[in-house]
Amino acid sequence: MSSSSLIEHEIKIKQPYNQHKEEGNSIMLRYFIWTIGCQMNKAESQQIAGYLDSVGHQAATSFSNADLVILNTCVVRQSAENKVLGTLGLLKGLKNKHPNLQILVTGCLVNSDTQELKRRFPHVDLLFKPGDYPELIAWNERRGVFIEQEASLSTISSPCAFIPIIQGCDNFCSYCIVPYRRGREVSRPLGEIVREVEELARRGIKEVTLLGQNVDSYGHDLPGHPDLADLLNELSSIDDLVRIRFLTNHPKDISLKLIDTVASLNKVCEHLELPVQSGDDDILRAMRRGYTVERHRELVHTIRRKVPQISLSTDIIVGFPGETEEQFEHSLSLVKEMRFDVVHVAAYSPRPGTIAWREYQDNIPSEVKKERLNKIEELQAAIASEINSQLQGRQMEVLVEGRKKGKWFGRTRSNKLVFFEDAGDWVAQLARIQIEKTSPWSLRGEVKKIIN
Ligand code: SAM
Ligand code: SF4
Repeated sequence: MSSSSLIEHEIKIKQPYNQHKEEGNSIMLRYFIWTIGCQMNKAESQQIAGYLDSVGHQAATSFSNADLVILNTCVVRQSAENKVLGTLGLLKGLKNKHPNLQILVTGCLVNSDTQELKRRFPHVDLLFKPGDYPELIAWNERRGVFIEQEASLSTISSPCAFIPIIQGCDNFCSYCIVPYRRGREVSRPLGEIVREVEELARRGIKEVTLLGQNVDSYGHDLPGHPDLADLLNELSSIDDLVRIRFLTNHPKDISLKLIDTVASLNKVCEHLELPVQSGDDDILRAMRRGYTVERHRELVHTIRRKVPQISLSTDIIVGFPGETEEQFEHSLSLVKEMRFDVVHVAAYSPRPGTIAWREYQDNIPSEVKKERLNKIEELQAAIASEINSQLQGRQMEVLVEGRKKGKWFGRTRSNKLVFFEDAGDWVAQLARIQIEKTSPWSLRGEVKKIIN
C-alpha cells in the first residue's frame, strides 16, 4: 500500500486508551518520533506525525515525556544501524521503568523476518515496514482507536513539504540494502499526488520536494506510464505552489525530456542530486551502477548547457572492496573536474545480504577509508568555498523556512542555505537577500525586500 494511505483513512477514537491521560472525550497519547536517515524517512515521519495528530495525540519533546515512541530507522551504513541499536537499548531501560511505554519501530531496520527482530527486541510493541501504515492503524485499532473523522495531512510547521512519489528500488546496486528493505518500485498514482499537493498548497505549503530512491523510474508501473516530467507539468499549474524540487536521480535513467522540463518550467528549482558513487569504471561496474564515468560526465555537461543556473549534488563511496589507490584517485580527480556544489562522501560499509557483501571481501582498512573520505571532503570544501564565494554581492531569492540560533534561514532555488537577521516575521516569505558572507556550507546576507 502506498504511503498516501494515511490521508485517505478516516480515523476516530472511540474508547479511551486507559493507561494514558484523557482530554474531553479523546485519548491523549504523548508521542515522540525519533528519525534517522534519508529524506524519505523524514517524509514518512512527517506523515506518521500527521496521522497521530489527527487521532488526537500530542507531540512530546523527548523520549522521557512520551507514552508512545516511534523509531524511524536507517541501516544503510553500519554507523546508522549502531545508533539505532543504541537507541533501542536505551528504550529497553526506559520501558523497564515505565512498562506502559509503547515502542513502535519502522524504517529500513524492519525486514521481512519480523519474528527474528521480535526475538531480539522483545520490548518493542510493533514493527512495521516503511510506509506500511495499515499496520500502524491496525495497531491503534487493537487499542480501541477507531475510524471516524478524516485524518489531516501532516502538521504544517514549515512552508516546505516532502512528498514520496515512488517507494522501493529495483536497481540492486551491489553495496545497497535499500531494495531488500523497501522492496520493489511502486509509484503513487499521478492524480493522487496532484490532489495532495493542491491541498498542501491550499494550506500554505509553498515548496514541495518529490521523493524516491530513483525518481527517474516514476510511473513505469502506472497505467499510461506517466513520467516525472509529466508530473512536474501537472504540479506546475497549481497556483499557490511556488517551488518544486525532486530527488534522487539516477545517472543511468535520467532523461533528456526531464532535463528539458527542468529548463522550461519556472517553478522547478535549478538543483539536481545525481549520485556518481565512484570516478572509476571498474568500481562502477562492481557496484552495478549501469553507467560509465564518461556517461556521467556527458550528462553533467548536457545539464549545465541546458540549465546554466543548475547546482549539482553527488554521492561518493570510498573504500569499496578492492578499491586501489589509483581507483580512488580517479574519484578525487572527478570531484576536482566536475566541481559539484555538494558532495556527500561515505566510507563503504558492508551490508549483510547485499551482492557486494556476498561476493567481495571488505578489504580496505578503516584508516584508509577514513583517509580517503577526508581527502574528498577537504577537496570539496575548497571547491564549494570557491563556488559560493562567487555569490557574494549577489541578490538571491530565499524561501524562509524558520529560525535557527536567532537567525532566519531558508534556501535559494539552487538549494543553498542562507541565514539573515531581521526583526520582522519572515516565515514562509520569499525574500530577496543580498549575500554578504559565504562559506562552503552556507551563506549569510541582508534582506532587501519581500518578493511575494
Ligand atoms: N538512490 C540513490 C542512488 O542511486 O545513489 C541513493 C540512495 S542511498 C540509500 C544513499 C547513499 O548512501 C548512496 O548514495 C550511497 O552513497 C550511500 N550508501 C548506500 N549504501 C552504502 C554502503 N553499503 N556503504 C556506504 N555508503 C552507502
Ligand atoms: Fe540503493 Fe542503488 Fe537503489 Fe540508490 S539506486 S537506493 S543506491 S540500490
